[in-house]
Formats: sequence, structure tokens, C-alpha cells
Amino acid sequence: MILQIVKYGDPILRKTGKKIEKITPEIIKLINDMFETMAANHGVGLAAQQVGYALQLMVIDVRGVKDRPSSMDIDGQTVKPEDLMPIALINPQVIPEGAPETGPEGCLSFPEIYADITRPSKISVAAINQNEQQINFKCSGLLARAIQHELDHLKGILFIDRMDSITLEELQPNLDKIKIDTIKKISKSQK
Ligand code: ZN
Repeated sequence: MILQIVKYGDPILRKTGKKIEKITPEIIKLINDMFETMAANHGVGLAAQQVGYALQLMVIDVRGVKDRPSSMDIDGQTVKPEDLMPIALINPQVIPEGAPETGPEGCLSFPEIYADITRPSKISVAAINQNEQQINFKCSGLLARAIQHELDHLKGILFIDRMDSITLEELQPNLDKIKIDTIKKISKSQK
């Protein structure tokens, strides 16, 4: 089922996700719905908050972006990231490793908004995947950027929080518009 994407202005985007204690059939259903929703919106990643659930859960799929490579290794073995996509990361733990790198980002909760964001270029990740297996890997490139962007969502942090002040000032009118539209939609749905 394709889920509605929560847009900027909805308070759930500022909530820290709760740890998933048990992978229930409802969680598996949510993961599959998030995979479907991410694909339908041509997203590289999606956090549970973006579909209305404050949980430690994200889904990632870098296959759609051909011009921004990713690398990945599991237990020291280089693997093709495409072979593992789409992937769900439940209760992810991320350790930054590489030097900071600046690159463009967008977000499904901020339609038409793009900006350069600086993040560590390489990360080490430990999580549980959609098959309920523990997975530990290192990655860089687009995959590392996407995971860090979604990890922020799980903590209630948004990419606007990481933009430099000049970019933020430029984008402010567009951001305000998204926020106002969202607040209007929420108040309408509560009537
Ligand atoms: Zn986002």
C-alpha cells in the first residue's frame, strides 16, 4: 500500500523515533508499505516519521540514481549495494568515519527543495534488516549520505537544520509555503 508522505510543518517530523522492541507482522507490513511508497515517489530513502510513525526505522534504495555511486562492504568484503536494495534498517546505529563531504540533497517531505549538505563521507552501520537479521556494514557515497539523512529523521532532525544560513534564507519563502499548506491540511482533516 502506498502511504501518504508527511510534509514539513507536521509535528511528527520533529519526533524522535521509538526503538522497535519486537518485529511484529505490523512492522513487516509497514516496511513493505514504506518500500512501495519510496519507489512510487522515486525516493532514495524514507524514514518512518515521513509516513506518520515515530519509530527507529528507515528504508533505503540507491538503485534509481546512476550518476552518484555508492560503495559498501560487509565484514571487510566489498559487495554491490544494488544487490541489497531495497533495504530496511531497524534500530540503526551509525558511526561516522570519513572526512566531511558536501553534496546535494532533497527530501520527500520538502517538495522541490534541494540544497548542499555537508556530512561524513563514510559511515559504519549496525542495524536489523527486513529479514530480521543483524547487518553490519561500512558504506560511502550516496548510500552513506542517504542513511545519514534518514538517521536524522529518526532523531527529529531535518536537512534544513544542516543548511548554511545563506541557503536557508534563500529558501525560507518556499519553506514557509510548504509549512502553511501542511498546517492548513492538518486543520482541515481535524474538522
Ligand atoms: Zn528527508
